Amino acid sequence: MDLVAELGLGKFIFTQWMSNLVRYFIAAGTGWFVISFAFRNYLQTRRHAPTPAKKSDVKREIFHSVKSGIIFLIPTLLLVTVGKDLSLNRIYWDIEQYSLTWYFASYVVLFLWHDTWFYWTHRLMHHPKLYKKFHVIHHQSVYPTPWAALSFNVSEAVVESLVFIIAVMVLPFHWSVLPLFNVVSILLNVHGHLGHDIFSRSTLEKAPFKWFNHPSTHGQHHLKHQGNFSLYLVFWDKLMGTWIGHIEKKNPRLSEGSLNYK
Ligand SMILES: [Zn+2]
Ligand SMILES: [Zn+2]
Repeated sequence: MDLVAELGLGKFIFTQWMSNLVRYFIAAGTGWFVISFAFRNYLQTRRHAPTPAKKSDVKREIFHSVKSGIIFLIPTLLLVTVGKDLSLNRIYWDIEQYSLTWYFASYVVLFLWHDTWFYWTHRLMHHPKLYKKFHVIHHQSVYPTPWAALSFNVSEAVVESLVFIIAVMVLPFHWSVLPLFNVVSILLNVHGHLGHDIFSRSTLEKAPFKWFNHPSTHGQHHLKHQGNFSLYLVFWDKLMGTWIGHIEKKNPRLSEGSLNYK
């Protein structure tokens, strides 16, 4: 199947861009709805920031995330144009071609690869010589909101988009794996930027919670500008000694009896 030949390049780019945008707005919008409306009362003592997010911050985060959605088209375009002519990508269409076991295993491989790529590129982007050129926009959100999930410099968005180009050049992936993986990826990314603790700190100390990143760990990264570089798991941070724990809450309402917050 050749989607570009069927749709034409223009329509193909448009549908890809729309799917990037729809995925982002549904995931970030759901996160925003959860913290601002659905569980507002429950979460009011679990907010990390001393004050609620300003509209100007949210606008900036959305603007840069939408921009990243355009940059993320680059790998797809390279794959369907140059990659196709050079037979660079190993995307396949028939699940039977590599077995059902590999189909499900490929999600796990992609998860671990993305986690590894993100940790090391993110850590590199914190180098003083690279920080301003690659990563400063993401850290304009000192206390991020869910809308900050893809708020990147253009250069950072390019680096993060390379992860999938490399993956499909090295290993065979069924065509459905990347879009489905990206749904899970954006949901976990938004979760990290909720700016509120969803689970109590005592729960986060227990397995399996302690193996994963949470709003309190990524929130700590945003506040301290160092450490906790991971995306999904805390594996690389723990292994490389860059783990800096959970964010301290600066929400003044916490001092009013601390309402069930343990
Ligand atoms: Zn960072
Ligand atoms: Zn972040």
